[in-house]
Amino acid sequence: MKIAFIRLNMFEHISSDAMKPILFGIIHSLTPPQHQITFYDERVKKLPERIDADIIAFSVETFTAKRAYILAKKYRTKRNIIVMGGFHASVMPDEILHYADSVLIGDAEGTWGAFLRDCESGRPKQKYISDETAPFAPVRSQSDSSIYRHHYYGVGVCQISRGCKFNCDFCSIKTMYHGVRRKPLKQVERELRAMKERIIFFADDNLFYDKRSAMALFRMLTPLKKHWACQISMDAARDDALLAAMKKAGCFLVLMGFESLNRESLAEMHKAANAAADYEAVIRNVYRHGLLIYGTFVLGCDGDRPDVFQRTLDFAVRNHIAVTNFNPLIPMPGTGVYRRMEQEGRLLRRKWWLSDTYRYGDTAFLPKHMTPEQLAAGCLRIRTEFYSLPCIFRRLRGSLRYMQPMSLLIFLLANLISGREIRRKQGQLLGGYLHEADTD
Ligand code: SF4
Repeated sequence: MKIAFIRLNMFEHISSDAMKPILFGIIHSLTPPQHQITFYDERVKKLPERIDADIIAFSVETFTAKRAYILAKKYRTKRNIIVMGGFHASVMPDEILHYADSVLIGDAEGTWGAFLRDCESGRPKQKYISDETAPFAPVRSQSDSSIYRHHYYGVGVCQISRGCKFNCDFCSIKTMYHGVRRKPLKQVERELRAMKERIIFFADDNLFYDKRSAMALFRMLTPLKKHWACQISMDAARDDALLAAMKKAGCFLVLMGFESLNRESLAEMHKAANAAADYEAVIRNVYRHGLLIYGTFVLGCDGDRPDVFQRTLDFAVRNHIAVTNFNPLIPMPGTGVYRRMEQEGRLLRRKWWLSDTYRYGDTAFLPKHMTPEQLAAGCLRIRTEFYSLPCIFRRLRGSLRYMQPMSLLIFLLANLISGREIRRKQGQLLGGYLHEADTD
């Protein structure tokens, strides 16, 4: 059968910050050779007007759901099968089935093969459910240009685990993964050795599970001489031995969720690993080991008042954080935040992700101590200011002493690309026009 597998963008737009979609390598491994599969990444190349395939598959996140539904209508023919999987499909399978013939709930390892077998016999089911026990599929080499038809800055992407040991109230991860599953270290080593890329991004939501497994990973990584970045929780950043081992193994940047400087907001988010009081000490510790920080912040919790924007920006600039995301709190479907906002009648639109008026950067709920417009404007203002040239140079001056030539290059590139993407994405209509009323 002819299969088209599509990685969507939030809107019709070529992104300059797209990472290699690791899912392409997984799906390729799981697809028997009698099928002919073509991968499309809408973030890096405009999709064709027509796609001639028996199966059209979309990996769907909440921010790309409307785009998936619009494209499903566009590409549907009398004889093709439309299938959707991914985070959003796992949380909202019945919504997906309004637009697709089949939905894959959970990991592709537990669903894709069975779906293809049923398609071959002409009877695909509506729902396929993975029980989180299927072993990790081997990831096809990211140097395979028949799968990855774009260079993606030459950065390889690796994933060691799925799930997170924490349970933050706003995070979608627990809607798909109930525990944490880890790939055997030998399999990770094989995949890394097969990658030609020298720079690797670990796509795990939290690379740090426990110290023993982290140290074993860093020992395996050291002789490979890769340069890499990853996401870690705050508990890992307090541990000197761990940071030293990371640096020795080639780490140059850690992404950490600070989320808030406000204790009340951290408690509301159930951000168990964080204590705002020690943020500055943690940052100094990370710098002492020569690592850059990518900090993420969530604004608009019930503990936040209108002064939260300036205080958060001042903190990030004063601490010379290399890259940041200042995001409004978003009630993602299936999360604790969504349930609370729904119960309290504070959602501005129940299915905001389908709305033909919701634009990127908009607020989707009624904040407690500010208006939705104040929250959106406050986030935009500090994002814009953080990536202004004077602010980039101020932060750079303050952090030069921690940097090696490669970190300097990454700092500059990441700041210029992030600033550009913010300007391009802000205010864009999510997905395009769906023209459906089911969003109030
Ligand atoms: S630590 Fe990060 S990945 Fe884990 S639940 Fe919290 S926000 Fe999600």
